[in-house]
Amino acid sequence: MVDKSQIDDIKRNLNIIDIAGEHLNLRRSGNSYFALCPFHQEKTPSFSVNEELQIFHCFGCGESGDVITLFEKLNNLDFNDAILELAQRAHIKIDTKNSNYKGSNNKEILRINKAVEDFFYKNLNNNKGAIEYLKKRNINAQSIKDFSIGYSESNDHITKKLLLKNLTKEKLISYGLSTMRDNKIRDKFRNRIMFPIKNIKGDTIGFIGRVIKDDVKPKYLNSPETEVFKKSEVLYGINIAKKEILQKDFVIITEGNIDVIQANQVGIKNIVGIQGTALSQNHIDTIKRYTNKVYFALDMDSAGYKALQRSIEITEKNDLISKVISLDDCKDIDEFIRKYGKSKFIDKIINAEEFITFSIKYEIKNTDIEKYEGKIDVIKKLLPLINMATNEIKRSYYISEISKNLDIPFETIKDFQKKGKGKTNIKLQKKIKIPSSEIYFLYLILESKKLRDIGTRSIKPEYMRGSNTKKIYNYLLETDFKGENINKIKEVIFKNINKEYIEKDNNIEEMTKDLNTIIKIINNTYIKKEILKLKKELSSENNSSDILEKIKILSSNYI
Ligand SMILES: [Zn+2]
Repeated sequence: MVDKSQIDDIKRNLNIIDIAGEHLNLRRSGNSYFALCPFHQEKTPSFSVNEELQIFHCFGCGESGDVITLFEKLNNLDFNDAILELAQRAHIKIDTKNSNYKGSNNKEILRINKAVEDFFYKNLNNNKGAIEYLKKRNINAQSIKDFSIGYSESNDHITKKLLLKNLTKEKLISYGLSTMRDNKIRDKFRNRIMFPIKNIKGDTIGFIGRVIKDDVKPKYLNSPETEVFKKSEVLYGINIAKKEILQKDFVIITEGNIDVIQANQVGIKNIVGIQGTALSQNHIDTIKRYTNKVYFALDMDSAGYKALQRSIEITEKNDLISKVISLDDCKDIDEFIRKYGKSKFIDKIINAEEFITFSIKYEIKNTDIEKYEGKIDVIKKLLPLINMATNEIKRSYYISEISKNLDIPFETIKDFQKKGKGKTNIKLQKKIKIPSSEIYFLYLILESKKLRDIGTRSIKPEYMRGSNTKKIYNYLLETDFKGENINKIKEVIFKNINKEYIEKDNNIEEMTKDLNTIIKIINNTYIKKEILKLKKELSSENNSSDILEKIKILSSNYI
């Protein structure tokens, strides 16, 4: 690793404004520069760069960090690569020999992978069986090109060629391209259609090899884990999908690489494939750079459903919005598109369901509900999910759905739920206990002059129940919204506000309406509290007429 003093040197010699300016249209506002956020889609700039502090922070999506993090994210580099490049720019020499810096080695494996990919690709045309297979799977010439689909022969050509280039056997094995069989070093992939797996930058990090004839096992052979290939990080097609995900502001997650290709062929490009597992934290960290909405279209079998459950859990934990695309009677996207076509698939995307709605249908379809035990089974499985729903109306709605489908009275299911038999084991993220209406109030009055005027006219600092919100509001009023801590304040507000507020369109009429509602809530809550206090005094004090008068005045301020 590069040591800390060198990292500090690099930071000192760079300016975050320069790095940000290479990618973004910055405009100055107060102490900061603002731009449209490169990490989430927005219409008004909430991405700020502070020259004095040398940090960036997005008030919309919460991304934040220093010049190195920004450079990493803007250029899709990992930390090591970012440091190397920034060191060069900052004219600081980094000794890579004595550190366990992985960059140089990484580059060799990536270079070789690319050469192998090209070889497979050229080789495809020499193999009739492979071409026929792709035709049968409805994969067209454009996709073969876009996804660099190739073919591996059984002649150990790759191994021989690379050994001639003075690569050691150990290296070839550790790069996942060769393997030992019968005491001989042989090609890892033989007689397979080859699908290169790429990272976000488009580097080839590994391969999926699929047999042509289904009776050969294993049907799919993946690269082993190497220093650049980690199964839990792979999002097949991300290099092609990333732009479209940003534009559409959601990503479709599927299982197979063929599903990704098939969707691309009909023009749906915001789609990536996970390698037959559930979504991992690594996947989410990548996805979050582009969107916070995840649509699942995993295989419609029991393994796929289990993967879906685990995936939903982790998206909930990360505060992402998730939906499920139902594929009806089809096993996967590939089958669905071939059977029903593009427009039906688009319908399915538009009508993607909440996980709970999807689960109700799924569990009922896959259980024998003619029998009473079957019904109980379904209820037991579904109640934990229903308890995840955020409000009582939603919970009741889902219970009534189950009630209708199973022909069991609503109240019976409700009782069952109350007894706690359906307690959730999924932990929902805890929200900080600050009155959310007050946070939203502060957010709105910081948004525009017009809202500020309305807000400050109606709400006095003492109306605030939260001690922090009261402090912040006082500060804003004292400094006429121009204090030097305003960005820190914005940062605090943005990190604590409910996400749905931020996701709302920044349209002034809507915001004004919201502000008036919030004013009503804060004002009336305050009045109620004060009246309650006075009523308590009423019994112990003598000057009751004074207190009664105060109550009368307060009551008249009720909106
Ligand atoms: Zn952002």
